[in-house]
Amino acid sequence: SAAPLGSSVIPLVNKLQDIFAKLGSQSTIELPQVAVVGSQSSGKSSVLESLVGRDFLPRGSDICTRRPLVLQLLQTKRNPDGSEEEYGEFLHLPGKRFYDFSEIRREIQAETDREAGGNKGVSDKQIRLKIFSPNVLDITLVDLPGITKVPVGDQPSDIEARIRTMIMSYIKQPSCLIIAVTPANSDLANSDALQIAGNADPDGYRTIGVITKLDIMDRGTDARNLLLGKVIPLRLGYIGVVNRSQEDILLNRSIKDALVAEEKFFRSRPVYNGLADRCGVPQLAKKLNQILVQHIKAILPGLKSRISSALVSVAKEHASYGEITESKAGQGALLLNILSKYCEAFSSMVEGKNEEMSTS
Ligand code: GDP
Ligand code: MG
Repeated sequence: SAAPLGSSVIPLVNKLQDIFAKLGSQSTIELPQVAVVGSQSSGKSSVLESLVGRDFLPRGSDICTRRPLVLQLLQTKRNPDGSEEEYGEFLHLPGKRFYDFSEIRREIQAETDREAGGNKGVSDKQIRLKIFSPNVLDITLVDLPGITKVPVGDQPSDIEARIRTMIMSYIKQPSCLIIAVTPANSDLANSDALQIAGNADPDGYRTIGVITKLDIMDRGTDARNLLLGKVIPLRLGYIGVVNRSQEDILLNRSIKDALVAEEKFFRSRPVYNGLADRCGVPQLAKKLNQILVQHIKAILPGLKSRISSALVSVAKEHASYGEITESKAGQGALLLNILSKYCEAFSSMVEGKNEEMSTS
């Protein structure tokens, strides 16, 4: 099973993000998110799905992800009787709870078509989805279209440049963690993922390498040296994973079975002995959580000072416009006040969390 997250730090971040989105200033405040990058069909959506532990993303050998999907995972409590409910909710369909995850996938597909057309078109307009569940990492993930070189269907001739620009708009944010996905059956030196991640994060402070498809490497080859960083070093290192194959998808193989199969895969291959902390989706989840907590801690002071200066400017605006906009400015001030409180709560939680981490 995926690494459980005791952390309640991230729900606060998600709340902040919601408030900022409401204020329309999403891009001015850089909050930590995790984005997956890589070439088309490298396994990005599969990795995200495994992290979430549910089947709901369009995946396949063709171009499936054609709009950025911003996915907020929110950890909820189990019911007192031990039962649990998991559901999704889209920003474009407020109040509608999706309990059937295959329906979520269909809605992502339908909403993709609404904006980007039915013929492989790509759009940079986000789809925003929240997943409420007792079984998820508390984190915001962004699934992005993959880098593709040759235009197909309704794609414009400059499709590669457009997708690169779209990806960069997410991963250039200094607070964005980058999962750079490269399939093990391709040459790491030619990895689109590492190349674009390297542009956004040249020092590698926020890039995690993920090597997919370890199960379909050429006979006699293995990913040991890749995972050890001996081929291309990466500050935060690499995790190797085995996702479901296209056949598994067609056979409707469950994610749970896939995680069991992944564990068995690594256990049965002596070459991966001693690399347990670099192998498997649960290790990726664990690594992400640790990095995220450190990261949040590092950006907190900047976030707080921005919020207080925003408070000052709202107060000034309030003073200069007088009565007419009074209610509006008052609302803004109230909102920012709430934000400021969140930040304080957040700060003390991170401090507490940190103690916990240093003893583990
Ligand atoms: P994306 O385009 O990067 O989002 O890639 P997808 O997650 O949609 O996966 C593309 C295809 O590769 C699908 O058919 C997956 O089943 C397959 N795939 C992804 N990861 C693995 C893996 O680790 N092993 C195998 N055998 N197939 C994989
Ligand atoms: Mg995808």
